[in-house]
Amino acid sequence: MASYDVIVIGSGPGGYVAAIRCAQLGLKTACVEGRDTLGGTCLNVGCIPSKAMLHATHMLHEAEHNFAAMGLTGDTPKVDWAKMLSYKQDTIDTNTKGIEFLFKKNKIDWLKGWGSIPEAGKVKVGDDLHEAKNIIVATGSQSSSLPGIEIDEKTVVTSTGALELGKIPKKMVVIGAGVIGLELGSVYSRLGAEVQVIEFLDTITPGMDGEVQKTFQKLLTKQGLKFTLGAAVQAVTTSDGKATVTYKLRKDDSEHTVEADTVLVATGRKPYVDGLGLEALGVEMTDRGQIKTNGHWATNVKGIYAIGDAITGPMLAHKAEDEGMATAEVIAGKAGHVNYGVIPGVIYTHPEVASVGKTEEELKTAGHAYKVGKFSFMGNGRAKANFAADGFVKIIADKETDRILGAHIIGPMAGDLIHELCVAMEFGAAAQDVALTCHAHPTYSEAVREAALACGDGAIHM
Ligand SMILES: Cc1cc2nc3c(=O)[nH]c(=O)nc-3n(C[C@H](O)[C@H](O)[C@H](O)COP(=O)(O)OP(=O)(O)OC[C@H]3O[C@@H](n4cnc5c(N)ncnc54)[C@H](O)[C@@H]3O)c2cc1C
Repeated sequence: MASYDVIVIGSGPGGYVAAIRCAQLGLKTACVEGRDTLGGTCLNVGCIPSKAMLHATHMLHEAEHNFAAMGLTGDTPKVDWAKMLSYKQDTIDTNTKGIEFLFKKNKIDWLKGWGSIPEAGKVKVGDDLHEAKNIIVATGSQSSSLPGIEIDEKTVVTSTGALELGKIPKKMVVIGAGVIGLELGSVYSRLGAEVQVIEFLDTITPGMDGEVQKTFQKLLTKQGLKFTLGAAVQAVTTSDGKATVTYKLRKDDSEHTVEADTVLVATGRKPYVDGLGLEALGVEMTDRGQIKTNGHWATNVKGIYAIGDAITGPMLAHKAEDEGMATAEVIAGKAGHVNYGVIPGVIYTHPEVASVGKTEEELKTAGHAYKVGKFSFMGNGRAKANFAADGFVKIIADKETDRILGAHIIGPMAGDLIHELCVAMEFGAAAQDVALTCHAHPTYSEAVREAALACGDGAIHM
């Protein structure tokens, strides 16, 4: 029986980062993974493959729509679907092998197989029993569907099936206008599919800043995505490789049907804790099936911790990573910390959408006095040169103190631009601090500075 200071169950961004940090802090560490490769949902069927597909199809979009205007003429590239899928797979492989390398470098044992916890302090993998002073559960999440919808991963698919379709569909229905639905909907729309997004709520991307939601929907509509909002899907049936989706409009209860070659069910994800034996151990769970943890990611059972998608909070890779690092530090007797008020969220469509902190809607509800500084990418020279002037930067600051409370960006490289404001928020900066920081010209980040200036005496280029 092998004995460890820490055994991490699951090698997604939460688990592998926790394992590396534990090893760096001198703890004897193993990581259990049931998949054939390391990296979890994120590297195998999530963040990385979806971004590869978004990148390839964005290149196609640029070639089709903007090359000629820049004087780049000639044949527009054609899509070689098999090659595009193999580019995506190569990207996955490079990344998952990278984690294998990091495990070797940090002397982390990869215990191959599905793990369970027969009792506190023990982890079983196959027939092998291992001892662990501490166990970190990082088993992630799985797609959730709607009642009555049968997923076959061919015609009716989750994001996993959508990343490896046999061919590009002519018509795709996406159920759910959240991040995953819109990213993958964009991919297939750029590849020529007619994409209809059906959403239960009256807005896309629930919880996001209202102004960003409206601009985002307008821009995606311009790109060809069709939205049916306020619609409750009743059933999805399949016949001869085609699907029929039945939905009811909530405003008048009228029933409609639409046919599609592929239906992507993107209605959210739920924690995956199957087979761990948590119930028998008496580990407390929330009523949404998440593992309950305290401020130090400890469950109610001594020596068992949990992080990432399996616990509460946004289901994001970087949130899982931060929890992984912090939990390792707590186990090593240090002060692990995650600031849940400054976790950015990004949608990697074109334009990108990124946000951090409070929305106007949240501040209004809380009765918090605020001011807004906004700057359109129309006033940014670099964005205009690159045909990327759609969108804006919006900074929300405390009305009295000018401290930044939130930031919302829709526009080019929004997912990278947001981090300047994350750092500013971590340091408790005022909008004026950003406004007084010299920003290189010509960069997209000048739009961030201009929005900060707009929180004070006014933007210059607007
Ligand atoms: C299509 C898609 C796109 C996404 N894009 C983004 C994005 O751009 N940015 C972002 O931040 N997030 C994105 N996400 C979300 C992100 O993937 C998750 O938030 C993140 O992977 C959660 O990390 P985790 O470590 O908690 O779990 P996971 O990554 O889910 O990893 C858990 C691992 O545990 C293993 N496991 C489970 N049970 C056991 C067991 N009993 N024994 C052994 N192994 C076990 C699983 O096989 C899995 O490999 C995306 C998700 C999807 C589906």
